[in-house]
Amino acid sequence: MNFEDIQTVKNLLSEPQKIVIVPHKNPDGDAIGSTLALWHYLKGRGQEATVIVPNDFPKFLKWMSGNDQILNFERENSQAKSKIEEATVIFTLDFNHLGRIGQMEAPIRKVTVPFVMIDHHQEPSDYAKIMYSDVTMSSTCEMVYNFIEYLGDADAITPEIANCLYTGIMTDTGSFKFSSTTAETHRVAAQLIEKGAESTEIHHRVFDTNTPGRLHLLGKALHNMVILEDYKTAYITLSQEELDAHTYQKGDTEGFVNYGLTLEGIIFAAIFIENMEEGIIKISFRSVGDFSVNEFARKHFEGGGHNNAAGGKSNRTLKETAAHFLSLLDDYTAELVRS
Ligand code: 5GP
Ligand code: MN
Repeated sequence: MNFEDIQTVKNLLSEPQKIVIVPHKNPDGDAIGSTLALWHYLKGRGQEATVIVPNDFPKFLKWMSGNDQILNFERENSQAKSKIEEATVIFTLDFNHLGRIGQMEAPIRKVTVPFVMIDHHQEPSDYAKIMYSDVTMSSTCEMVYNFIEYLGDADAITPEIANCLYTGIMTDTGSFKFSSTTAETHRVAAQLIEKGAESTEIHHRVFDTNTPGRLHLLGKALHNMVILEDYKTAYITLSQEELDAHTYQKGDTEGFVNYGLTLEGIIFAAIFIENMEEGIIKISFRSVGDFSVNEFARKHFEGGGHNNAAGGKSNRTLKETAAHFLSLLDDYTAELVRS
């Protein structure tokens, strides 16, 4: 963030505002952690603020302080719409184009107030008055920490804020193991622990939440995994029927895609998950090294994300989507084998 942007934000926040804070659809730990942390911070400054999520999120993220004050745009539609209409400032966190907020896109596009973007994804679109966009950052939570610091308010980071921010940094870095994790990420995490983040407890609350259904679904996913050594690729498919047979709950497939990358020699992993309700196949891509899944997802599956972690979707059937994916790999053989 440059000096001018910091001044603009300071000016905005020196007046009472009605602030709406929005994360992307299907919010993850970084999205929920960053929005709730910012919410606590802004409330602490006496601002009126509301977090509105486009849709529901997994139970393993529902323990953070402030969770019960979040509005769900699908469930509390009229209340959420009024908040958006009344807003005088809108913060968008952990995404960078308005297509990422589903049904919320139309009402959000209608409001003509200043937008503040805080985000670490590639290729931001140009809708925000203030754009704090940095693709080298581990997480939006690390950026919200910086944001509060830039405003000269590091001392205002309470244990609640520290817990929210630590959660997002931990989940987006795969517990500090992805290449996006820098020395600075660790420094921020250390500061957060000093400010009261309960790192062991957070890890426990997010990761030790298996149900028998989820573990059996993981078994099914691993059983379904197709390994294509020639392309250094592994992919998993899960049909709606398979999800239903394992009492699927939102968030149950989180992390499944990463198992492909634990195979020696595999650098590209994908998971295709059928969602009958939305009539789409939701896709996650992961890679190690130079192969950009952001570019792959953007080009072929209406998606995007980061170099090593991206998502997308397909309107074909599950079988057709997998076949289409396979047919694309030939064009990437050289790139995959080189990686
Ligand atoms: P995941 O596979 O865990 O859902 O997402 C991996 C990364 O890709 C996240 O940073 C997420 O925000 C991004 N992502 C997931 N799905 C989509 C999508 O449909 N479009 C775009 N642009 N990004 C996505
Ligand atoms: Mn993120």
